[in-house]
Amino acid sequence: MSFIVAIDGPAGSGKGSVTKLIAEKLNLHCIDTGAMYRCVALDMMNKGIKIDELEKINELLKNIDIVLDEENEKVFLNGQDVSKEIRSVEVTKIVSQVSAIKEVRLKLVEMQRKIAKDKDIIMEGRDITTVVFPNANVKIYLDADVEERARRRQKQNEEKNIKSTYEQVLEDMKKRDENDKNKEFGALKIAEDAIIFDSTGRTAEQSAKKLIKIIKEKKKQEELDKKVYEETKETAIKKIKLKIVKSVLYYVFYKIVYRIKVVNKEKVPKEGAYIICANHINMLDALAVVSSNKRLVRFICKESMFKKKILGWALKLANTIPINREKNDIESMKRTLKALKNGELVGIFPEGTRKGMEKNMKAKNGAAFFSLKTGTKVIPLGIQGSFKPFSKVKLVYGDPIDFSEYYGKEKDKEALEKVTDIIMDNIVMLTNKGK
Ligand code: C5P
Repeated sequence: MSFIVAIDGPAGSGKGSVTKLIAEKLNLHCIDTGAMYRCVALDMMNKGIKIDELEKINELLKNIDIVLDEENEKVFLNGQDVSKEIRSVEVTKIVSQVSAIKEVRLKLVEMQRKIAKDKDIIMEGRDITTVVFPNANVKIYLDADVEERARRRQKQNEEKNIKSTYEQVLEDMKKRDENDKNKEFGALKIAEDAIIFDSTGRTAEQSAKKLIKIIKEKKKQEELDKKVYEETKETAIKKIKLKIVKSVLYYVFYKIVYRIKVVNKEKVPKEGAYIICANHINMLDALAVVSSNKRLVRFICKESMFKKKILGWALKLANTIPINREKNDIESMKRTLKALKNGELVGIFPEGTRKGMEKNMKAKNGAAFFSLKTGTKVIPLGIQGSFKPFSKVKLVYGDPIDFSEYYGKEKDKEALEKVTDIIMDNIVMLTNKGK
C-alpha cells in the first residue's frame, strides 16, 4: 500500500520548496501538479489555442506528453525541456484560466493518479486533498500572507532570471488566488480533515521540519490503527468460536437464567453501520445484546472490564472496543470510527456508567458525536429487568433515528446535547414499554 501526502495551498505558500524538502527527508516521490497545468497552458500558447477553443484543447490533451523528471528537477513537454518556459510571466498569467477548464482538469487528475500509483508520494497543488486524493494518508493546507507569498515568488523569479516586479507579482497572485478559489472545477478549498499550516514568517526549512514531525506522527498512528484493525478482524476460527459462544450464552445462559426476550429484533438492519444505544443496568447487559444479535455488535466498554477473567475473554472475542475514561482515549475513538466506516454495528451506553439515569448523571455525548461525525443512524434500545437470576430481561429495540439534519455538527456542543437528549428520550420510552 502506498503512502500519500497531499498538500494544497495558494501560490507562493511555500508548497514547492517545502514539498521538496519533505520528499527528500522522508524518501517520497515529489509531484508538482502546478507544473503540469503550466505545461498545458504553455502548449496552448505555443499552438495559439485560445481558452474557448474546446475542440482544439481536447485534441491537444489527447496527444500531450508531460514528464516530471524528479531526479534532475526538469519538466518535459512533448519531449522538450520546458522547465524555465512554464514559469514565465506569460504562462503564469493564463494558467489559472486554463486550469479552470473541466476537460483539462479531468485529464490531469487522471495523469496524476497514474503517476502516483503504487508509490509513496508527496503531491502538491490546489485540489490534491479534495479531488485527486481525498483519502490521502496526510492532508496539509499550506497558507501564508499574500504579501509574503508575492515577495517569495519575486525572489524566485529573480533567482531564475525571470523578468517581473514585486507589484506585478502581487497583483497576479491576488488575481490567481481569486480564480483558484472560485473556479467551478477543482477550486482551492480546505479539506475538512486537512492540517492547516501557516508558513508566514517561516523559512521553507522551518516549515518542512514542523510538517515532517506531523507526517511522522500521522504515519505512526496509522500503523497502530492498521494493527488495531487487523486485531479486530475476525479470523475464520475466531468467527466460529464467537458463533458458538454467542449461542451458548444466549440459549443456555440468558434464555434460561434471565428468561431473556428480544422485542422488535427486525429494527436492526441486516447490514450497514448503526450505533445501538442502550441504557446500562448491569455488567451483563452488553453481552446480552451481543449474544442475542445475529450481527456482531461491537460495544464500547470500560477498559477495566477486560481485566475480568471470563468476561474479559468474551469481550475480546466479541471485538469489544475498550475505552479509558480517565483520558481522552483517541485510540478508542479511532477504532470506533473505523468500525462505523467499515459498516459495523457499534454499541454504546450513553449513560457512561451503570444505572447512570437512576443516579441522575448527565448522559455522555459520545454516541451523538460518532453519529454526527460519520452520518450513522442510532438504534435506541431499552433494556428492562433487574438481571436477578430467573427474573425476566427484556430488550426492546426502537426505530433507527436519523440525525441527518445535524450531520457534520459533531463539534457543535448544542447539536451534540440535542442529539444526546433525543437518544436518551427514546431509550427511556423503550425501557417503559411493555412493562
Ligand atoms: O503551483 P503553481 O503556482 O505552479 O500552479 C499554477 C496554477 O495551476 C495555479 O495557479 C492553479 O491555477 C493551477 N493548479 C490547479 N490545480 C493544481 C495545481 C495547480 O488548478 N492541482
